[in-house]
Amino acid sequence: MPKKKSLHSPIRRCAACRRTAPKHTLLRFVRDPQTRQVAFDPSQRLPGRGAYLCPNAECFRLARKRKSLERALNAPIPEAVLQAAQAQLEREQLAS
Ligand SMILES: [Zn+2]
Repeated sequence: MPKKKSLHSPIRRCAACRRTAPKHTLLRFVRDPQTRQVAFDPSQRLPGRGAYLCPNAECFRLARKRKSLERALNAPIPEAVLQAAQAQLEREQLAS
C-alpha cells in the first residue's frame, strides 16, 4: 500500500481524557519493541507502541490516578518518564 501524503497531522487520542487531537500537539510515550521499557518521546519519532497525553496538568493527574498510560502500553511507566514529560510541559507553558 503506498504511503498517503497528507498535510494534516495524524489524530491521536489522549490516554487520560480520551479526547482526540493532532499528534504533534500531544505528548508521546513509547514502549520499546525489544526491551518493553517505556520512554518519553519528545521527538515523536521513536519506534514502538505509542500512547499520548494532552499537554496539561489535569491529564497528567488523571493518567497517574487511573494508570492510563500503563494500561495503554501494557507496561509499567517509570516515575522518571512522567517527570520528564511534565518538565517538558512546564517548559512549553513558560515559553508560550
Ligand atoms: Zn487529555
